[in-house]
Amino acid sequence: MSEVNPFESLQEQIDDAAAYLDVNDGVIERLKHPERVLESNLTVEMDDGSLERFRAFRSQFNGDRGPYKGGIRYHPGVSRDEVKALSGWMTYKCAVVDIPYGGGKGGIVVDPRELSMSEVERLTRSFATELRPIVGPDRDVPAPDVNTGQREMNWFKDTYETLEDTVAPGVITGKAVSAGGSEGRVEATGRSTMLAAREAFDYLGDDLDGTTVAVQGYGNAGSVAATLLAEQGARVVAVSDSSGAIYDPDGLDPTAVKEFKTETGSVTGFGSSSELTNEELLTLDVDLLVPAALENAVDAEIARDVAADVIVETANGPLTPGADDVLGDRDVLIVPDILANAGGVTVSYFEWVQNRQRFSWTEERVNDELERAITGAFDDLVSAFESQDLPSLRIAAYVVAIRRVVDAYTDSGTWP
Ligand code: GLU
Repeated sequence: MSEVNPFESLQEQIDDAAAYLDVNDGVIERLKHPERVLESNLTVEMDDGSLERFRAFRSQFNGDRGPYKGGIRYHPGVSRDEVKALSGWMTYKCAVVDIPYGGGKGGIVVDPRELSMSEVERLTRSFATELRPIVGPDRDVPAPDVNTGQREMNWFKDTYETLEDTVAPGVITGKAVSAGGSEGRVEATGRSTMLAAREAFDYLGDDLDGTTVAVQGYGNAGSVAATLLAEQGARVVAVSDSSGAIYDPDGLDPTAVKEFKTETGSVTGFGSSSELTNEELLTLDVDLLVPAALENAVDAEIARDVAADVIVETANGPLTPGADDVLGDRDVLIVPDILANAGGVTVSYFEWVQNRQRFSWTEERVNDELERAITGAFDDLVSAFESQDLPSLRIAAYVVAIRRVVDAYTDSGTWP
């Protein structure tokens, strides 16, 4: 995996798009940096009575369009710059799908697999306590990200509500339905991948039926994307997780692979599949590549060997700017992360709306509204791409998103 700094990648993406926008340099400079970053040291009691320190961050990148919004990641690779980059991507993601949020992101440097459940609970409640003064339904609304899910969101909400002595489910999204979560939220990121892939193949005059697919990463987003793509008739021939990659030219059953991973902890060893390296999966001769793991999965070197015609970015930042250049020169259609994985935050927004309404939507309604949001955003990107003759859908996405953030900022005036 490449050592490219994700924050520098974000800034490069903004500069690339700024070249096609008539926006004041000072405003572009504002859009390249977070408004603020909180760095904390959390002291947590371990099960054996010892105390351990964990570094944690929350970056509030931009609040021009609404409350800061974005997940909390638990991973040993979390860093200040990674969280800053992810918070910027959230800002432009929310603008691409035109939901009334700014962007934020949080992370804790930890491998949660090395902690017991009660240690993860104390760590989560400690972070919620630390973040309490700067979050809130109208201020900053966290959500799940890598290695966090409903359980952590429920603990976060409970801690916040207890400390504030109030009922405020909209302080965080991605909760269990029983705790104020939304139907369809768990599947939402993978669903937007499927919808974005469907739109991309349609744009190329094709469809998903019979399309061969490789999925890198088999967490929530990757496994749901694989399942929904297969439901559309695509043949998922390879998937991977951190333990390795598996391949079956006749197609894998994504649901059975998911069950196998839940039972054994990894996808490797599934059925009659053969094993591949991570790089072999990324360069497999398939129609569609879905990188759904972490940032920088495909660098310029790997990109030279990528054989897919379409890439739908399900992770945040899976392609380095160098990879983007190589693949752009070869006319590979790349659907950028800030559209392709925007289903997660879009349904988070629906969850937050339901929390404010004190009214629950059906799963059908959630999925219909999500489909409208993703297909509408895809059309906006294609129309910018074609009408302004832009070099890529990524640049089109940033042009559309930056324009919306700039309008929100400048329409309100610069004050103080
Ligand atoms: N962590 C997800 C993302 O990167 C979801 C964020 C949210 O729902 O606020 O888009």
